[in-house]
Amino acid sequence: MTGKGAGVRSLEEAIQRCQALGMRLSQQRRAILELLWQTGEHLSAREIYHRLNAQGQDIGHTSVYQNLDALASQGVIECIERADGRLYGSVSEPHSHVHCLDTQQIQDVWVELPPELIAQVERETGTKITHYRIDFFGYRQTNPPSELVPATPRAEIG
Ligand SMILES: [Zn+2]
Repeated sequence: MTGKGAGVRSLEEAIQRCQALGMRLSQQRRAILELLWQTGEHLSAREIYHRLNAQGQDIGHTSVYQNLDALASQGVIECIERADGRLYGSVSEPHSHVHCLDTQQIQDVWVELPPELIAQVERETGTKITHYRIDFFGYRQTNPPSELVPATPRAEIG
């Protein structure tokens, strides 16, 4: 897939994007970008504020909000509107999400639909599809398949 307005997929790209846009890359703005790329999580402004201050960064509430606003409006970071507030993520490129119904956490995933399916959606709607996002919802698997322990003890082979 070739995307002209391709989004940002690494911290280096995020920094380059800011520079290309003529955005001032203050130490605070850089710290926000680094935090988002390090955690890979989707965080509220409040969480970002707390984590940066826990790291010893001296950043005020207002500054965190203003920087997040600027980065999101320029498409450098992702902004998700949820009923309980906004969350910010590192990846601005179109991608899909897996929502955990236990922890309310959101994971980024890249899912490619078969071209036939996209062609079918285009035919049915008369719309040329340029990109898509899929939201998956589910519960955390308590026993990931790789860690499954047999329910019954294995018979000794003598
Ligand atoms: Zn995301």
